[in-house]
Amino acid sequence: MTKVLLVEDDSAIAESLATGLARYGFAVQWESTGSAALAASGFEVVLLDLGLPDMDGLDLCRELRRHTDVPIIVITARSDEIDTVVGLEVGADDYVSKPFGVREIVARVRAVLRRYRPRTASGPGHAGESGTVVGRMRLDRRARRVYVDSREVPLTLKEFDLLSFLAEDLGAAFTREQILEAVWDAHWHGPTRTLDVHIGTLRRKLDGVVNIETVRGVGFRLEVLT
Ligand code: CA
Repeated sequence: MTKVLLVEDDSAIAESLATGLARYGFAVQWESTGSAALAASGFEVVLLDLGLPDMDGLDLCRELRRHTDVPIIVITARSDEIDTVVGLEVGADDYVSKPFGVREIVARVRAVLRRYRPRTASGPGHAGESGTVVGRMRLDRRARRVYVDSREVPLTLKEFDLLSFLAEDLGAAFTREQILEAVWDAHWHGPTRTLDVHIGTLRRKLDGVVNIETVRGVGFRLEVLT
């Protein structure tokens, strides 16, 4: 059973969500404070309400992201928070605004898990051998993993999607619009600064391995470092 970490201080909402998620086959660990959420482990996806009693939700999201690469879906009641979530690098993979239905949450959870989870190793080749090789980097789209010199580089969903998209045509300049359309969901209408933030984290994680070059007035291109 997929374990969902639900961080929500409103017990009525938490109970209805936990019941609903259980009906769809998810195991729910419910925590009502940020500190309890940070102590949790073994979960595969996080549902995080931003309005918590003991901690700023955005700070908690950033903190969780430092410890885990699993998908984080942020729940918020305030539309101005959505702007902040998409505009800043808090590490969330998706967001849902209150009020929401359980089915909407389940659909979002399934969607992020589908993108995040490596598929079972069937078919030709084993994970660890297949994929696109870009210099010292190997990108395994089937398993959604990236290796540098055989060592895995942990990436978030969006970082992987972004890198994977740029690597589809090495050296080609992609416009910001092309990238945003391909990598971000249609409902994610955030400021394009989000793209720059993700480019920044990818550059840091792959420093000295590949070069994500800024193409002035256009967008970005991926180059191999030789
Ligand atoms: Ca709350």
